[in-house]
This record gives sequence, C-alpha cells and structure tokens, in this order.
Amino acid sequence: MALTGIQIFQLLPKTNCKECGVPTCLAFAMNLAAGKAELSDCPYVSEEAKKKLAADSAPPIRTVEIGTGDEAFKVGGETVLFRHEKTFFNQTGLVVMVSDDEADDVVDGKIERLDKLEYERVGLILKANGVAVRCKSGDKDKFKALVEKAAAKTKKAIILMTEDPEVMKAGVEACADRRPLLYAATSDNAEEMAKLAKEKDLPLVAKAGDLESLASLTEKLSGAGVENLVIDPGSRKIKSVFHDQVRIREVAIQKKFKQLGYPTIVLPCEMTDDFMMETVYASMALAKYAGILVLSDFQGQNLFNLLLERLNIYTDPQRPMKTDEKVYEINNPGPDSPVLTTTNFSLTYFIVSGEIENSRIPAYLAVLDTEGLSVLTAWSAGKFVGDLLGEFINKSGIKDKLEKRNLIIPGYAAVIQGDLEEEIGSDWEVQVGPREASAIPAYLKENYSK
Ligand code: SF4
Repeated sequence: MALTGIQIFQLLPKTNCKECGVPTCLAFAMNLAAGKAELSDCPYVSEEAKKKLAADSAPPIRTVEIGTGDEAFKVGGETVLFRHEKTFFNQTGLVVMVSDDEADDVVDGKIERLDKLEYERVGLILKANGVAVRCKSGDKDKFKALVEKAAAKTKKAIILMTEDPEVMKAGVEACADRRPLLYAATSDNAEEMAKLAKEKDLPLVAKAGDLESLASLTEKLSGAGVENLVIDPGSRKIKSVFHDQVRIREVAIQKKFKQLGYPTIVLPCEMTDDFMMETVYASMALAKYAGILVLSDFQGQNLFNLLLERLNIYTDPQRPMKTDEKVYEINNPGPDSPVLTTTNFSLTYFIVSGEIENSRIPAYLAVLDTEGLSVLTAWSAGKFVGDLLGEFINKSGIKDKLEKRNLIIPGYAAVIQGDLEEEIGSDWEVQVGPREASAIPAYLKENYSK
C-alpha cells in the first residue's frame, strides 16, 4: 500500500532547508505522496530512506526524459486516469518525422517549421518538441548523414527510427550526446537494442503487435537493465489505437501493472495519407493518452490546434486558468486607440484578444484580475464591477498613453457603466461593447476604422 504523506515525512531529514523548492519537509512529503514531486528533488534523503521511498513514490507510469538542455522534454509520470482527478504532468511530446528517402528541401522545410512555429498564449510559449529521423533506405551512412543534418539544424529532441541495430548504431554515433529516443526494440532485435541503449544510457521504445507481447518485451528489456522505456503497442487503426491507449493507462494506473507502466508513442503519420485526418487522429490520441505523437509534418493549421488542445488538457482542472492582470497591446496601438476590457479567465482573454487581433484595429486590452472568473461570473461575484475596474484603469497608467480616451466594457457587464464612470472621471468616454466576442471585429471596424 502506498505510504501516506506523514509516513513519508518520518523518513525525510526534517531540516526544512527548502532546497526541494517548497518551504518544509512536510510540504515536500505531501507533494511526494500526491505524485507532484520526485524523490530526487531532495538531495538529503538517506540511502536507507531512499530504498524505502523509491519504489513507493515512483509514479505508476514511468517518467522518461528525451533530449538535452532547454529543449529536453519529459513524458509519462502520470498518476491518474482522468484529468478531472488531478493535473496531468508531462505534456504529450509533438514530433515531426523526416525520412532518408525524402528530398533535401522537404526535410529542410519540416525542420525549419519545427523550430519556427511557436505561439504565445496566456504568457506561455507553445511549441513542438522534436524530430523523428527515420531510416527507410536501409543504408546506415545515409541515415547517419540525415541524423547529423537534423542534429545540426535543430536543438530540439531527436528520435532515431530504425529496427536494424547496425543502422541504429550509426544514428547513435551521430547524436548520442543529445539523448535521443531509440525506436524501436522488437522481439527480434531486443538484445542488441537493449545493449545499445544501456551502453549510452538512452531511452528506448519497445514495440510489439499486441499488449500481451508488449508486456513480455518490456519485462525482457527491463531485465536487461533498460528502465527508460516508451511503449508502442503497434496499433495503426484509430479504433485499436484508442483501445490500446486507454487499456494501457487503465492497467498501469488502476492495476499497477508494471510491464505496461510506461509512456506511449503513437504514430498518426502511419495511420493515414490524409493530412487533416492525421491531425484528427493525433487530436484523439492527445486526449487519450499518447506520451509522444509523431506527425508527418507541422503546418500552422495542424500544429496550432494540437498545441492548444495540449495546453487545455495539461492544466490543473481544479484551478481556473488565469492570465496576468495588465494592459495588453494588440495590433500596435497608438494614442487614439480604444481600450477594451475583460477578465483574466484565460479562455475569455484568449477569445477576446484573438477577435481584436482578427479585426486588425490597433487597440489596448485591459485585463482585470478576477481570480480566473469569466465576465458574468466575475460580475455576479463582485469581482468585475465599476469601482474595481476603474481603480485598475487609474493605476495602470494607460491614461497617459492616450489622447482620445475610449474605454469599452463587455456588453454583458453594461450595468457597471455608471460606477465605472464615477471612478475614472470625465476624462474617459465609457462605451458598452458587444455581448459576444465574435462581434468585436465588426464593432471595432465600425467605430474605430480610420
Ligand atoms: Fe526537507 Fe529535503 Fe526539502 Fe530540504 S530538500 S526541505 S531536507 S525535503
């Protein structure tokens, strides 16, 4: 049975030195019991305590790290089946595949987009994680050259894809210092692949045709000393992918079945030739429960949606997503630009700022801290009211940047107009904007086009 936070606390040094990032050993113990911290975060745990705690505190799905430096990413480490129970920790890694039978300009384009496509939302940079280099030619020199090229072009994580141990060896030679993930060990090559992974201490994918064979394979690989495994149950039809991903998560979390307690890798790029269907499959696997997704290409229209879906899935469901209270500048506003207002509930902020961006009208967006509540909820809770919004506008300094002072409040909060005008004074003209964010572009164009 799992140790409780108090039982774990008894085994800790109790010095409250804070080096683990929390103020007390008790807080660390509670986090460890909840699966929100790793034992290695405390440098002072005795060897004896480590032995007692290591097995108990390990999440039922192993955490595996791929890549190095700022671009390394972790997968797995999950402790619950459903997102509403607790936060999912390690976001699904999004990876683009390049092959050694593709033309140079195709490969270059894919890797350039991998690095270039980044989006800022709610103060976070959303971006993909890596490149999977596949050997299709069977030629180890050709493969090695492509791995070298990919490693030189991007600092993001690398997956080496070949089932031929000799070819894999050539790929590893080209980028072992980047801690690539090796794809894949099968029942035919398990010993050689395990040897290679162990020698260089690299993570390895175990691939089989069904869950039973996969469990036997992971047992064999872990018996050979390779613990950092990612698993591929081999399914390539959407129905079986869904079934396998859910089953793996269920048996790992609920039954503590160690042989399948590893993050998964899913290859939508092998499931269809239709780019949009590939994105749909990837979206489903992202929700249930892919650790890594390998896609055939990244374009704004597939990557952006997957990044947003990932952002929503991997946030704490018990805390509303909030953005910072401040005045945001959209479309390079100037002294004549209007100031729109909203709350700091991320979804509201996302939608309103997106609609202002779409209008192409330069504007400011004043975002009031309402503890992550949306406009109507915040208003009814007394957090989006005239005096609080007015106080924020007065303190923000936005007034000094403007010659014309037009403040637009959401249509649903029209009732705060009087109190707001009283708070900010006659220097401002307060206007009631549209109720729905989708009407913002038309409203701005009608009232603020030059
Ligand atoms: Fe306690 Fe270890 Fe954290 Fe220090 S680093 S506060 S000893 S748990």
